[in-house]
Amino acid sequence: MDYNYQKILEDIYKEILPYAEKGKHADYIPALAKVNPDQFGICLETVTGESYEYMQADTRFSIQSIAKVFALAMGLSLKGEALWKNVGKEPSGTAFNSLVQLEMEKGIPRNPFINAGAIVVADLLLTELDDAEGEFLRFVRELCGCDDVGYNMEVALSERETGYLNAAIANMLKYHGTIENDIERVLMFYFKMCSVEMSCRELAKAFLAFTNYAPFEYAGYKLSRSRIKRLNAVMQTCGFYDEAGEFSYLVGLPGKSGVGGGIIAVCPHRYSVAVWSPRLNSKGNSVMGMKALELLTTYTEESIF
Ligand code: GLU
Repeated sequence: MDYNYQKILEDIYKEILPYAEKGKHADYIPALAKVNPDQFGICLETVTGESYEYMQADTRFSIQSIAKVFALAMGLSLKGEALWKNVGKEPSGTAFNSLVQLEMEKGIPRNPFINAGAIVVADLLLTELDDAEGEFLRFVRELCGCDDVGYNMEVALSERETGYLNAAIANMLKYHGTIENDIERVLMFYFKMCSVEMSCRELAKAFLAFTNYAPFEYAGYKLSRSRIKRLNAVMQTCGFYDEAGEFSYLVGLPGKSGVGGGIIAVCPHRYSVAVWSPRLNSKGNSVMGMKALELLTTYTEESIF
């Protein structure tokens, strides 16, 4: 079916305006506290090459946990199914930075999209690659076709200074032997990944690789069609902290959110869509972003269900 996506995006924006002041942007990372919370952007890229955007689709923001999808893709490319030895693929039902579950489950994180799981994937990349930090950027740059996407060191260092809970998680992982490398090195790589800044347009472009289900190779990292399918399955079940069920129910697409206010979602074989607005709900997901995607799949009736 052909949709007038441009009009749909514009209508959606009008409809979500009543939510513009709801929620609060992430300020537990001091450098992110400075971000103006009253911003919104959206970009939809189709697999046939059309691009639709509205408002601040070209403003870069901190992608935070969305980076965990790129890291998982690299990890799967390098290790295949062996990646799942030290990290599960079940929804956590707990907050993204929960320590309790990790302790109960003897240092094996529930999935690669909670902080503990992403720290395990960061450790794996450090073990496998001589220059994991450089390789991560190379991969993301090739996916989105932008050479100047990079780490924001102010954000990464600010998170390192105040990242007591993530440090506790890394220590617990090390205690259980789940990670190999020096804790400080693993944490710094993890924080740097989260600090990457991209716009909605760049994110939507990058996620086309996970949308059209063609086997791909970017910067030497290959994913088969089957692995792309599985990556999307993990996004569907684990991409939204302990609100993955709600996102599935309201939106019905695989996706991933970040505390910078970004959300990326994939409509397999059709389009990828990135939306950004910094004000978050109590679960850490963008209020306007969630609402916008809910309306998108309601108006188009395009979802995986
Ligand atoms: N860097 C953030 C943290 O570790 C990522 C959180 C997120 O976006 O979910 O707290």
